[in-house]
Amino acid sequence: MYIFLNKKIVKEADALVSVYDHGFLYGDGIYETMRAYNGIIFMIEKHLERLGRSASLTQLVVPDTRFITEAVHRTLEANKLSDAYIRVTVSRGKGPVGLDPSLCKEPTFVVIAEPFREYPEHLYKKGVKLVIANTRRNLVEAINPKIKSLNFLNNIFAKMEAKERGAYEAIMLNVEGVIAEGTVSNIFFVKENVLCTPAPEVGVLDGITRELVIRIAKKSGIRVSEGRFCPSDLFSAGEVFFTNTTSEIMPVSQVELVSFKVGEVTKALHALYKEEVRRYISAAEQQRSRATGA
Ligand code: PLP
Repeated sequence: MYIFLNKKIVKEADALVSVYDHGFLYGDGIYETMRAYNGIIFMIEKHLERLGRSASLTQLVVPDTRFITEAVHRTLEANKLSDAYIRVTVSRGKGPVGLDPSLCKEPTFVVIAEPFREYPEHLYKKGVKLVIANTRRNLVEAINPKIKSLNFLNNIFAKMEAKERGAYEAIMLNVEGVIAEGTVSNIFFVKENVLCTPAPEVGVLDGITRELVIRIAKKSGIRVSEGRFCPSDLFSAGEVFFTNTTSEIMPVSQVELVSFKVGEVTKALHALYKEEVRRYISAAEQQRSRATGA
């Protein structure tokens, strides 16, 4: 594969980052995961906006959005990819040992793109198993989950619990025992015809998929409640699913010992989500062909 490293495309074997990079030494950096459909990066503008927010919350200087957009497209082209998983990483950069960010003169900028591997269809049909992790989500006042940072141990601990217990994903509660989010996803459930999801204030990453799902639901007349929910609220729900950029809307068949059906609301929202993706991609394709005169 070809990687965009700092200012240019290099072969994967030449994409080397210093062992003194503070991303490696201290997890000091930020990232975004995006998904390309037919060569179009879905909602790239939202991902760039969030990267900008993560950058300002960590006082990291990132390249401008034009540069990043071009770097992402060049990485897709170099690897001849149209349906792809894309990861943009910006670390504090190389510097002497020590926590002080000002020791690093220049951030390290990396774009990785890989062929998108579709999730097996049976996961969407049957749903996946979740557990509630003992590991609590970082406090907003400690490492704000709003920052999509390289400092990922909090989520990795919960993921380890999921794996140990044979689950696909773990739900993390905040320190008060309120449902926060998955290790790499946002949590939704449907109860008495209301779509419920933890409010951003609970301490979550406000997922781009989450935001779109809320918008789609409201547009189609489904009531949405963003709030503070306990596991017992979720256990008595009719449907549960999680969202993220790569898996879109993933139905949940079990949380701890409680089973759920892959319900009609989940299926309808996923169909509407796919429709939204198609609309976005075809508008971007039209814009692209106007720009190239094709
Ligand atoms: N929450 C966490 C902790 C995540 O890491 C992610 C995505 O990786 C999400 C939520 C979902 O965000 P998005 O929908 O923007 O992919």
